[in-house]
Amino acid sequence: MHNAAIAHLGANYVYVPLPITAANLQSALEGLVAIGLRGFSVTIPHKQAIMPLLSDVSAIARQIGAVNTVYRTEQGWVGTNTDMAGFLAPLVALHPFWGDKTAVILGNGGAARAVVAGCRELGCREIWVVGRDRAKLEAFQHSWDSLDSLHIQPWEELPQRLASADLLVNTTPIGMYPHVHHSPLTEDDLARAKPGAIAYDLIYTPRPTQFLQHAAAHGWMTLDGLEMLVHQGAIALELWLGQPAPVEVMRQALLDQLSPSH
Ligand code: NAP
Repeated sequence: MHNAAIAHLGANYVYVPLPITAANLQSALEGLVAIGLRGFSVTIPHKQAIMPLLSDVSAIARQIGAVNTVYRTEQGWVGTNTDMAGFLAPLVALHPFWGDKTAVILGNGGAARAVVAGCRELGCREIWVVGRDRAKLEAFQHSWDSLDSLHIQPWEELPQRLASADLLVNTTPIGMYPHVHHSPLTEDDLARAKPGAIAYDLIYTPRPTQFLQHAAAHGWMTLDGLEMLVHQGAIALELWLGQPAPVEVMRQALLDQLSPSH
């Protein structure tokens, strides 16, 4: 999607994979300065390890606990995280006011941190994070200072929480290809939809997931992970090139790539 956008803009750049081992991260950063690189994406296993090696890290990347985008400034490499903004992009248009809304988030891993930050940004009245491991859930909650709206709930108690959810987000990998017949919730659970409620699955293969198919059948409005993926990439490209990204071109490139013929 980045190369499609670059071609569309007629810009003289290219987006390429650069496999780098943990031991070489520091020297790679120096080398990337030397070759005049404009910026780069960061993925597993470097999303946390890169933080101390950068000149600056944005507040949102610190809050999420991971850097996914790095760009050059005169002061050096600056790290940020575009997942929260990517998550929010398809949501903000749906409701003008979120202050009376309850969000229920399934999972407490890396993506859940961007989702909690997004729900905080929206101003949700209540944010419930549901997980299967109590110790991890408690550690997750403690890592968010003074976020009074954040609550945790064990997975077994999830069904009774659903009736109050205005936004239900799956941040677990349950239902991701090849396990396309798995779902984090049963059809019966999803029958408890509140009118106007939104089911959002961060997964983008398959589209839609079993979870979203069942949710749609029970009246939930549904969103899949493609928009988050497109927008987190578009925001990164804007940081690198300093100009608006052609979001539609990027979306189409992704759709082409994710189509079954690929
Ligand atoms: P992660 O850090 O590994 O977190 C996964 C979470 O799911 C953990 O809390 C884990 O619980 C929970 N989980 C896994 N299997 C479970 C099960 N069977 N029952 C209950 N909980 C379960 O992964 P991540 O980076 O957050 O990514 C999660 C998903 O989001 C992936 O499908 C990824 O593709 C998607 N994602 C999409 C985008 C996008 O742009 N659309 C961006 C980021 C991530 P434990 O901690 O108890 O193991």
